[in-house]
Order: sequence, then C-alpha cells, then structure tokens
Amino acid sequence: MRIDVLTLFPEMFQGPIDASILGRARAAGIVDIHLWNIRDFAHGKHRQVDDYPFGGGAGMVMKPEPVFNAVRHVLGGEAAPVILMSPQGEVFSHRLAEELSRENRLVLVCGHYEGVDERIREALVTRQISIGDYVLTGGELPAMVVIDAVVRFLPGALGDAGAVHTDSFAQGLLEYPQYTRPREFEGMKVPEVLLSGNHQRIAQWRREQALRRTLLLRPDLLEKLELSEEDQKLLATIKEELEQADE
Ligand code: SAM
Repeated sequence: MRIDVLTLFPEMFQGPIDASILGRARAAGIVDIHLWNIRDFAHGKHRQVDDYPFGGGAGMVMKPEPVFNAVRHVLGGEAAPVILMSPQGEVFSHRLAEELSRENRLVLVCGHYEGVDERIREALVTRQISIGDYVLTGGELPAMVVIDAVVRFLPGALGDAGAVHTDSFAQGLLEYPQYTRPREFEGMKVPEVLLSGNHQRIAQWRREQALRRTLLLRPDLLEKLELSEEDQKLLATIKEELEQADE
C-alpha cells in the first residue's frame, strides 16, 4: 500500500512512522509512506497557506490553492481515496480501518488552524474521517492514528497475523483479559484455566470473559451484535450472576 500524507508539519510524523511495527512494515516494503509539505505547493514570495476567514471570526483558514495543487501533484492523474482529517467526518473505527486497508493507495490531508476552505471538502476530498468528538490542533495526530490502524491490517505487518482477528472490536466484542509470566505477581494469580493446556476450556473461558467485559464496559457494542444461541445463554448467566452480586 502507498500512503501520501499532505501536511504543514511533516516533521511531526517522523517518530511514529519510523518506530516499531510501522517502521518495520516500511522497511519490509509492506507500506510506502510519502510525506508532502503543503507549503511547497503554495505560490508567492511568502508561500502563504492560510488566510483570514471571510465574514470574520477567530483564527486562520487553510487556503484552497496549495491543497488542490498538492493533491493533484501527488495523484498525477491516478484515482485514490482522498481523505480529509476532520472532526466533522465519519467516526473512525475498526471496520473503517479494515476497509481502507483493502485500498492500494490513500491520500490523507491534514487540516490545521481553524480548518480548511470549504471548497476543499466540496470538490477535492472523497471522504472525511474524525477520530472522535473532540477538536485537535491539527489533522496530523488523526492521520497517524489512521495510518497505524490501517497498517496493522496489511498482510505481514504484524508478527502474528491472527491478532487482528481476536483484538477488541474484530468480532464486535472487547478482547478477553491477557496474562503473561509470572504465574503469580504480588499475590495475584493467573486464572487456572489458562495454565490447563486445555484449548477448548481456554477458548470457552475467553469467550465468556469477552462477553462479560463488553457487557460491563461497552454494553452499546452488544446491542449491535447478532449473538449465537450459546453466547446468548452465556450472557444470560453472566447477567444473572451480576444481578445476584448486586443484591
Ligand atoms: N474549526 C474546525 C471545526 O470546528 O470543525 C476545527 C478545526 S481543527 C482546530 C484543525 C484541524 O485539525 C482540522 O481541519 C482537522 O484536520 C484536524 N482535526 C481536529 N480534530 C480532529 C478530529 N477529531 N478528527 C480528525 N481531525 C481533526
């Protein structure tokens, strides 16, 4: 996959895209990330990229010309999703990351200041993504979040490819609790079942724990799921148990 990032602050990306899994995925040629400075596409002596909002109001707005020029240059006539990072966009999710990971190419546009000229939304970008209902100073951190989540889905990016299918949200539930060595830490023991070597019991325990955890922490996720009969029974037992504990 190729990802082009258009930003006024390319230097912000260096740590996250060089380290750890992203760094390895780039080195292995699994993902090719190109950083472009939007200012390089601005004309005039001062290469101005922002200006005052028409109609007045606080802050500066990113001008359309440099962003249009940058996107056109980067695409060079090719078609690819052009995604604006925006608090007004579709809220980013596991499902959306997986969907984007199936593209050969993505162009991510990072806004800054008070945001971008509306004509960029109207005529240039094909999609807008928000990483949550809060406002950040720029689209750089959101773009890094999107890149990280998308690259995890690319074949070969993770040491254990199965992880993306058991992680939280993959099957609509939060992930079960994880433990590693030592078996006992400050008096807290690893659940016996995980040491049993019985794969069927372990799988059952994990499913029950995932359901329990989702019910307690994110009941909204359960409402969107079609549970198997077995899961429904498990959930009913968990609810009963919790009600009894409350009494
Ligand atoms: N005035 C804009 C508004 O109220 O919708 C917010 C502009 S914000 C200060 C500057 C830039 O940060 C945006 O253009 C966008 O690229 C990025 N940004 C801020 N919050 C974001 C979020 N939650 N998700 C994605 N991008 C965000």
